[in-house]
Amino acid sequence: ATTPVRARVLGIPVNVSNDVFRDAVALHGAGGGQIVTLNAEMTMAARADPALGAAIEAARMVIPDGAGVVWALGLQSYRVRRSPGIELARHLLEHAAAVGWRVALVGASPAVMDQLRERLVHDLPTLQLVFSVHGYQPAEAWPGLERQLLQCRPDLVLVALGVPRQETWIQALPQPRSGLWMGVGGSFDVWAG
Ligand code: UDP
Repeated sequence: ATTPVRARVLGIPVNVSNDVFRDAVALHGAGGGQIVTLNAEMTMAARADPALGAAIEAARMVIPDGAGVVWALGLQSYRVRRSPGIELARHLLEHAAAVGWRVALVGASPAVMDQLRERLVHDLPTLQLVFSVHGYQPAEAWPGLERQLLQCRPDLVLVALGVPRQETWIQALPQPRSGLWMGVGGSFDVWAG
């Protein structure tokens, strides 16, 4: 697979590619890493929040999730489509179910997480869901949960804790770790609803 071009929008790196699913599968095969879905609010937030900026800078893939980012890339003569994170995450879940990837889900309310688990068992019966926790854990619970999650050796981890927490939480986990790690914002709420 070819490495996607890295452009910059307001100083923030973005990968320029029209096949983010193929790139993500290739990244999994190349040892994995963090995928960030970038919109205009995040580029602004990253300028004021060094931890978010560092997480985006360190991510292996940054996909243009917002129309503003696609527009700014267009000004630099890059022709790309908008790649909604929720769509990439869904394609990766379907791929995981098809090829036997180990999947972990982190975040959203307890009720949403319960509903999402039920939905996934129904929609993707072959999905190997090896770890799932809601996102309203007491602070002291997180270190233990993080250890458990890493011990599961997941191939795909979707994290719905909201921006910037999901990006900085992924970035702060011990390295190296394989698999794809992706912040998905409100996707669990959409899928569960
Ligand atoms: N969330 C969570 N724990 C928190 C705060 C938020 O699990 O402490 C979840 C929330 O329930 C939702 C997701 O994070 O499922 C994304 O939240 P939001 O829509 O506010 O984030 P954004 O779309 O702005 O990234």
